[in-house]
Amino acid sequence: MPRYLQFVLAVFFFVTPLLTEVAGSQERPIVLKVATGLDGKGQIIRNTIIVVEGGKIARIGGEAPSGAITYDLLSLTVTPGWIDTHAHIVWHFDNGRLAGKDEPPIRAMLHAVDNAILTLSAGFTTIQSPGSAEDKDLRDAIARGIIPGPRMLTSLEPLTDQSGSPEKLRELVRERKQQGADFIKLFASKSIREGGTQTMTDEQLAAACGEAKSLGLRTIVHAHSAESAKAATLAGCTTIEHGAYVSDDVFALMAQRGTYYDPNIGLVLQNYLENKEKFLGIGNYNEQGFAFMEKGIAIVLDTFKKALKHKDLKIVYGTDAVAGAHGRNFEEFIVRVRDGGQDPMAAIMSATSISAASLGLNDKIGTIAPGMEADIIAMDGDPLHDPTAARRVVFVMKGGKVYENLPSDSKRHAAQLSVTQP
Ligand SMILES: [Zn+2]
Repeated sequence: MPRYLQFVLAVFFFVTPLLTEVAGSQERPIVLKVATGLDGKGQIIRNTIIVVEGGKIARIGGEAPSGAITYDLLSLTVTPGWIDTHAHIVWHFDNGRLAGKDEPPIRAMLHAVDNAILTLSAGFTTIQSPGSAEDKDLRDAIARGIIPGPRMLTSLEPLTDQSGSPEKLRELVRERKQQGADFIKLFASKSIREGGTQTMTDEQLAAACGEAKSLGLRTIVHAHSAESAKAATLAGCTTIEHGAYVSDDVFALMAQRGTYYDPNIGLVLQNYLENKEKFLGIGNYNEQGFAFMEKGIAIVLDTFKKALKHKDLKIVYGTDAVAGAHGRNFEEFIVRVRDGGQDPMAAIMSATSISAASLGLNDKIGTIAPGMEADIIAMDGDPLHDPTAARRVVFVMKGGKVYENLPSDSKRHAAQLSVTQP
């Protein structure tokens, strides 16, 4: 027998079975037993199994494959992993104050990792950060699969009216893409603490959003006043963030143009007020700004109720989570449903399939369906009847990997303890 044939046979008989075995152990299917599931698109799944293979949802229903790892989620409500389209994941407190540039970078990154873990444990398997340069390393480390955290998209450094002429903005958009940004973040208005009037000119917006679109990048635009939101919509930008003072005619225009709206009404302002002493005296966080934010809670709630009347308006789920808010991203859902009167199923679709579509990822995440990434969570309670169930996510799977699997009533227990203890 020629030597090469001996070698080929050796490979066939000895190496091939080994390779198959290794591949087989990676491919061991997972079965999730589900009594009640919400698919993210408005449908309810009942009394079935979800089969996960190779990090993706292989099928729903049928026989459980042999050798599967099984998770019993029968006492819980199962949904796709939730998406926060606006979370400043690297913002954090250090020594009881909002951390700044004087903090050692390694400590800053470890705090950011804390935030990523808290966010994932809360059931948020994808976030969009708009944005900071530090996001990139965190995003890439999470994507390598070593650090637990949500899938991350980042704009890197945002662009503002101070970034330069329309031509300069086009150049900066190209630069961001080169630097690895997933999308572009623009500031088209002042902050709510400063009244929210338009800052970028119509020409600047058209240049930035136009250039981004030609490169296949989405644009999300901080815009509080009706004029700034209208200008961004007419410039073809993808999403309007905050929009505290958006008027009915501008909502109608956004609905007609397919521009997404990201209201952020349930967490960011409340969190600022709860943590006032940790922000006060830094930048524009002064007494006047806090007085504005206190009044802002009712204003943004009112605007949200107005937005809900525009049935074709696509409302995404962003919280604008800053320091102190990470891991509490579900509070937005509770406020939208309890105080804003949003239909809970619509609010869940907002946090899953609609947000996924706004990120251009609706063929990968945001829905429980065959072929999708296995980003699946389960909560203790029924969010359609009790919005606070969103606080009790006890099972978290991202890309087919289980990151959290707690006893079903553990978070209910923890909440009761924190109420009874002084
Ligand atoms: Zn923000």
